[in-house]
Parts: sequence; C-alpha cells; structure tokens
Amino acid sequence: MNSKSSENAVMDAARWTGVRRRRWFFWGLVVVYMPAIATALHFTESMQVAGILFLSWAILLIIAVCLVATAKCPACANNFYMRNGSLSFSARCRHCGLVVRGEPGRE
Ligand SMILES: [Zn+2]
Repeated sequence: MNSKSSENAVMDAARWTGVRRRRWFFWGLVVVYMPAIATALHFTESMQVAGILFLSWAILLIIAVCLVATAKCPACANNFYMRNGSLSFSARCRHCGLVVRGEPGRE
C-alpha cells in the first residue's frame, strides 16, 4: 500500500515535470525570437540568414505548440492545455481545473 502511494507520487512528479518542461520550451522560444533575429541581423546584415533563422524558429514553435497541446494533466490524464480543439496557455487544466504547481502566486 505504501509503495503504491510512493509509486503514484513518482508518476505524479514525472507528469508535472513534463507539463512544466513543455510550457517552458514554448515560452522560451517565444522570448528568444526577437533577440536572436536582432543579433543575426546585427552581425550578418543578411536577410537570408534572418529568413533561415525565422524558418527554423517557426518549425520549432510548431513542435512546441504540439508538445504543449498534448501535455497530459497529472490529475485527470486529459490534455492539460487543450479542450475541444482549442488551446489555452493558462496555468489551469482545461478539464479538471488543476493549477500548475510552482507558478508564482498559485498552489
Ligand atoms: Zn486535469
């Protein structure tokens, strides 16, 4: 019985880690875009390099959105950020209302 609850705690922690990592990957990409393009333009002054950087960023962003959309809630095991085909980036599960732990001002 005790090992079962500790096993559940480990699974719960792993699921939270997955939700947080996907969330940080997405927001990290969003934040990094402008400084990366500005730096590339400053040093290369090439629109071709900026275009390649933008294309790479856009592909990574599509991957990040897919990862965020398929992140599973630790409580209800449904998609944490997506419900009925719509995606929300709030810190609350779209199905059961569970809040992401470790977010400022929450818990
Ligand atoms: Zn949920």
